[in-house]
Amino acid sequence: MNGLQAHVKIGGGYDILIASGLISKAGQLLKNMYAGRTCAVITDTNVEKLYLSSLLSSLESAGIRAHAYAFQAGESSKNMDTLSDILEFMAKIPLTRTDFAIALGGGVTGDMTGFASGCYMRGIDFVQIPTTYLAAVDSSVGGKTAVNLKSGKNLAGLFYQPKMVLIDTDTLRTLSKEDYASGIAEAVKMGVITDKKLFSLFESGEAFHNEKEVIFLSVFAKAEIVDQDEREGSVRKLLNLGHTYGHAIEKLSDYTIPHGHAVAIGLAMAVRTACRMGDMEKETAEKIINVLKKYGLPTESPFAAEAMADASMNDKKRAGASLSIIVPKEIGKCEIRKIPAEEFIAYIRMGSEEI
Ligand code: NAD
Repeated sequence: MNGLQAHVKIGGGYDILIASGLISKAGQLLKNMYAGRTCAVITDTNVEKLYLSSLLSSLESAGIRAHAYAFQAGESSKNMDTLSDILEFMAKIPLTRTDFAIALGGGVTGDMTGFASGCYMRGIDFVQIPTTYLAAVDSSVGGKTAVNLKSGKNLAGLFYQPKMVLIDTDTLRTLSKEDYASGIAEAVKMGVITDKKLFSLFESGEAFHNEKEVIFLSVFAKAEIVDQDEREGSVRKLLNLGHTYGHAIEKLSDYTIPHGHAVAIGLAMAVRTACRMGDMEKETAEKIINVLKKYGLPTESPFAAEAMADASMNDKKRAGASLSIIVPKEIGKCEIRKIPAEEFIAYIRMGSEEI
């Protein structure tokens, strides 16, 4: 295989394969583990039209019986109703405990399929086949699964690891500009947290021609973090850089601002706040904000500080009266800071001002 590979140790351990043409090879790659088994392929109505038939014929030729379910594409489907429909679909097939599921799609599909797999019959195997840049660089790895509740983003979910992640880089060619940029936001975030080299690929513009390396460096860095802290008790919190701001923005926009774009705004706000508080040099802050702009990402919140502070009160990063904020210091270095929840509004105000 002319590709790259990473490995996660938790959840029994699983490989992440990154290459062109993997969807049509999925059957071959899964045959050893699942020949003779039945599988539920969960996808959305956009991805269904693009990649489902190729995946189904590949599974069939490997002796895997596959049944497909497509939900209405979009973040607004990421809720308990769709989760319930997926579980009923699994039960109708019927999948048994030794069968498995495949998530074919972006982060919404992956998060819901993982959640459904983790609770169907108290847990069946699942495989991630991410088809967005965001899911490739971030959400398909690490086992966070969830749906949104009316009260807030990702409030119901499980830590549940996949058995394999197959990243077919050909799928990036059909993404809209907006969805392509969403993935860049999460990868730039990862570069700011852990990896100067990853950040420099974006700064130099090399990222445009080198998606495989961007994906590899992102998932490699994520694997190292989740292997140390699967359940976000310590170091995994760093991956939430920009997300307390970002989740508030997504919620206030009624999920019309895509997750990656909200993360870009959140990252820019975290950087401006860090600069105002003397945690980050102005030159570094400008460098990060300019990279986000260069890739067509937004960096300003359309919402007032008061509304954002209210919307963040249900965020999972809140523990009682305090909130864990990720403070970026240098490229490749961030720290976790616990602040009283009522101080967050001051952070939002600083993050909204010019530096
Ligand atoms: P998404 O799954 O909604 O995909 C975005 C859009 O792209 C959808 O309209 C989808 O139909 C379409 N699409 C998917 N693949 C395509 C392709 N190859 N070609 C053309 N169109 C395609 O959203 P997303 O941006 O992939 O993911 C965002 C979600 O991921 C959010 O719900 C977020 O909370 C979650 N997330 C989870 C984690 C995690 O660790 N579990 C991390 C980051 C984000």
